[in-house]
Amino acid sequence: MCPRDASRCVPAPPATPLAAPSASSHWPGDRAAVPTTGARWRGRVQPRPPSPPLLLPAPRGPARPHFPMLPRAAALPPGASVGPRRLSTPPIGTEEEQPPRGPEPRGRAMESLPPREEAAVPAGEASEEPDSGSRRWGAQHAGARELAELYSPGKRLQEWISVILCFSLICFNFYNLLFYLRLEHTPSIIVGIFAGVITADFLSGLFHWGADTWGSVELPIVGKAFIRPFREHHIDPTAITRHDFIETNGDNCFMTLVPLANMAYKFVSFSPEALYETCPWECYVFALIIFITMTNQIHKWSHTYFGLPRWVIFLQDWHVILPRKHHRIHHVSPHETYFCITTGWLNYPLEKIGFWRCLENMIQGLTGEKPRADDMKWAQKIK
Ligand SMILES: [Zn+2]
Ligand SMILES: [Zn+2]
Repeated sequence: MCPRDASRCVPAPPATPLAAPSASSHWPGDRAAVPTTGARWRGRVQPRPPSPPLLLPAPRGPARPHFPMLPRAAALPPGASVGPRRLSTPPIGTEEEQPPRGPEPRGRAMESLPPREEAAVPAGEASEEPDSGSRRWGAQHAGARELAELYSPGKRLQEWISVILCFSLICFNFYNLLFYLRLEHTPSIIVGIFAGVITADFLSGLFHWGADTWGSVELPIVGKAFIRPFREHHIDPTAITRHDFIETNGDNCFMTLVPLANMAYKFVSFSPEALYETCPWECYVFALIIFITMTNQIHKWSHTYFGLPRWVIFLQDWHVILPRKHHRIHHVSPHETYFCITTGWLNYPLEKIGFWRCLENMIQGLTGEKPRADDMKWAQKIK
């Protein structure tokens, strides 16, 4: 199934599902990611054609130094759908030869990210195959290079300070929280932690959706500091696997500083009786803060296919944190769904009720702004 140039194909690895790198999923939303027993197309199930050679490395296998860039369409059976809104895959050799286009209407297929996007190379190893004259995603993409260069020393310093302050406050608050825990609070603490995780997932989606869909890198201060990483991530999704701990977590640590400081203030100024009383609430807030702080680390793990600790893979497989297969659905252009990246629990229900679409229609109606206009502009930079 290699299109046009057979010399660019790599030998097929052992038959591994394209987007099922690990144990089976335990979440309904994941099943929409990749066809399993047949490709659903135009409302009926097509018999599955003979397996084409898959062009991804076997997950968790030994690292390969280099993968040729191939369109995702080449690695899927004809008509296979990738995401929940995909009705069909364009014929091989048509979509990939066209220059980048503007946003497609919802529900239309637009295969824009090649399998390299998720066939993440080992951290620190950015192997790309430059090929002038055609669209490329990854570190060699002109827009990705320009965005990466905007990462400034000032931004780096802000990230360092945020990480140090954030983890110091987390330790202080955790110690104090343990001090006020009581056995009779156990049920409300469990509910509080669960609610905190759900809230964090929703907020991760809301923030991610906002940064992906609106604003631009040219905006003063927030553009380069907070919107730039989202633009870079769509055109070079594996860049995040090459970011160190500070760059990965700096922004999220920055966001949780105020609530962490507020919690610390309560611990030093409130009476013990008041603190016993509010302990379940503080557990909710603390779980929310911890999961928001960890969100981008969890997101980075969802793009990492080599060298993940076993416990991280276990948590992904059981959908305690964002699974790799699940997050692939977001990375299909035009990046309009599955924005929640902490646990991903809310992605399926929010997609079902058309939550993001409603919000976008409302904002577009009020402001006249087109969703994802800046994101598409960066994606189209080819020089
Ligand atoms: Zn995104
Ligand atoms: Zn991602």
